[in-house]
This record gives sequence, structure tokens and C-alpha cells, in this order.
Amino acid sequence: MSDAPPREESWRTATRLVRGGIERSQFDETSEALYLTSGYVYGSAEEAQRAFKGEDKRYIYSRYANPTVTMFETRLAMLEGAEVCVATASGMAAVFAALASQLKAGDRVVASRALFGSCHYIISELLPCYGIETVLVDGTDLDQWKAALGQRTHCVFLETPSNPALEIIDLKAVCDLSHDAGACVIVDNVFATPILQKPFLFGADIVMYSATKHIDGQGRTLGGAILTNDLDFVDTYLTPFMRHTGPSLSPFNAWVLLKGLETLELRVRQHCVNSRDVAEFLSARNDVGRVLYPALPSHPQHELAMAQMSDGGNLVSFDIEGGREGAFRFLNALELIDISNNLGDAKSLITHPATTTHQRLEPEERARMGITDGLVRLSVGLEDPDDVKEDLDRALAAAKA
Ligand SMILES: *Cc1c(COP(=O)(O)O)cnc(C)c1O
Repeated sequence: MSDAPPREESWRTATRLVRGGIERSQFDETSEALYLTSGYVYGSAEEAQRAFKGEDKRYIYSRYANPTVTMFETRLAMLEGAEVCVATASGMAAVFAALASQLKAGDRVVASRALFGSCHYIISELLPCYGIETVLVDGTDLDQWKAALGQRTHCVFLETPSNPALEIIDLKAVCDLSHDAGACVIVDNVFATPILQKPFLFGADIVMYSATKHIDGQGRTLGGAILTNDLDFVDTYLTPFMRHTGPSLSPFNAWVLLKGLETLELRVRQHCVNSRDVAEFLSARNDVGRVLYPALPSHPQHELAMAQMSDGGNLVSFDIEGGREGAFRFLNALELIDISNNLGDAKSLITHPATTTHQRLEPEERARMGITDGLVRLSVGLEDPDDVKEDLDRALAAAKA
């Protein structure tokens, strides 16, 4: 081993995921250390005073920062190519902190309508209670973005591919329009994962994740992250908001997520192979309606999807004949695939959005989001795809009976 400093900047993705951010303790452990501590001790009263004045950069309290959480943040920032990563207790904590830290009464937010259920709640119900004007647009229609962004706007929030109809939003075009309106663009990149899509390359100002999904990917823990290169935003808004409102990630969960990052690229690549196989299998059947998968040429925005993403991801949405009853018969006949609203997991999981994740919405709003009564959203796991297809085949036959 040479004494030269590690050349982390030149590391390729797989290396960043395995080694990024490691800070070894005096015990020289191989694996990342888990610092389950809420507080830290000071050698003297003067040292404590200096820490609180910000003169010494050190750990003060785990609501502010924790060494295991810092390792996770550094590793994810290296993967994304961002200056700063702030970890949060869940994906929703990341969404809320990214918005609430910088918005005030009288501000304006424009968002695409096709959002994860809880994001939809924050934007369409919660923010207006605080005097923030929010406008929802059809994210696939650039004319609607243009009209909504014709006046000064503070934040733009969007998700691409969207949940559950897998709509694709033109990141470059929307970022350009948003910046002309003075807005900070926040991209929820959960469905694409940090492996398949890099929103900063298209102009995004903030990228956020639910680490609960592919980053853990094994159904163990909740977590989230906010990434950005805007240091003013971090210093002026995000850091004080995080410190004083407390949506911090627990060190234990950060440790689980660090181990998740080590295998993220491998898992996501295999998820994509399996998902394409399953999507092609479903498309070839005449007893399945629409099949939505961004990497299939039949996806209405296939070209845009492939210009922004390096592969299709692991979500496949499709219409079951017979509406809600048909979809329920189909779900109940599955033997391998579990009924669950989680996604990005090693286990294949399926959900019926109209009666679960999106049941709170009015039927008209669901229709605008492409959520029919027969639509199911499958998160293809890491089982042998032949077993997944056999299960789908059996359940589709049973659903007709
Ligand atoms: C799951 C999810 C969230 C919320 O994340 P949690 O970790 O469950 O709080 C936000 N956006 C998208 C797209 C998600 O899939």
C-alpha cells in the first residue's frame, strides 16, 4: 500500500458504492462502524463552548450529525456527484424538508400531478394550509408547464418516471422553464434510482430519494436523502431546518443503508434485466391491457425515457381485464409475488394503486393520472424471472375464471 491519499475522485461507480465515505475508527475495522450514540462528550467546558460557537467542527448531537450517518451521506453524494447529501428518517421527511425549509407564506409551487400519494398530500393539501400557492400540471405536457411557469415561482417538484403510471417528464425542458421563472427544481428520483438517472445533468437543483426503496432494497428500514450542489440553500435553509425540526436518520438505519449501497448497482442492473423480461412476457399476452415499462418501445414516451435513463427500472404497471374485481381476483391468485405497496425490493411486490396508495384521491384525479380501476403496479424483484412469469401466468388464468 502506498501512502498517497486515496484517489476517490477518480473512482468508478462500483468502487464508490463499496468504499465511499469510510471513516475507520482506531480499531481499523473492515466494515463501516455503527455509532449508536445520541450524544458526544467534551474534554472541557471550553471545548463544548467552541463546538457550539462553530469554531471546532466536531460531533455535537446526533440530531445534527452522527459518524455512521455521515458515511452514508458521503457515499451517496459520491454516487450522485453532488456536493452535499443530507440524510433523513424517511423519503417523505426528505420531500417535506426540501420544500418546507425554503418556502414561506405567499410563495408559489408548481408540481406535476402524477406523484407518490404522500407527495401529492404535501403539495396539494398541506402547503396551501401554510399560505403557499400550489399548481398541479400534467407533467408530460410542456404547454401546461409553460403556462404555470409564466410567473415567478419558488419551487418545482416532479417525479419521473412517475408512480404508478410511469409517465416520463422532460427533465431538461422543465428545468429550463423553471429556472426562467426563478424556481428551484426538486426531482424525486426514487423510481429511476441513482444508478439509472442523474437529474443534475439535466439541470435539477435538488435530487431526493426514499432510501427505503432500492437503496435498502431488502425491506429492512426506512430512510431518505436530499442531495444538492447549492451550498447557499444548505447553509441558509436546509441545515437549520434539519437541526431544529429533527427528521434525522438513525445511525442504525444509516448503517443498513450503507450496506445496501454496496450492492445497489448490481441489484438495480439485475432488477432491470428481470423487469424487461417480465414486461415483454406481459406485452405478448392478449389477456393483459396496457403494459407500461419505459424500456419497451411500446411505452408512449420510450425515446424520452431512454434519453434520460440508462435502463427501464424495476416497475411495470399493467391493466387487468375486469376492473377492480378482475384486479383483486388476480392479486389474490398470486402465490409467489406478495401484495405490498413497497417497491424496489429483492422480493417481487404488487399493489393495486386505486385502492391503496392513491385511494385518497377523487376518481377524476386518479383518471387524470392514468390510474384505472384495473391498473396494478408490479415491482419486479430478484427472484428467477421465470418463476415470476409462471406466477403471473397462473394468476391471470385464475382471474378470468
Ligand atoms: C416511497 C416513496 C416516497 C416516500 O418514501 P418513504 O421512505 O416511504 O417515506 C417518495 N417518493 C416516491 C416516488 C416513493 O416511491
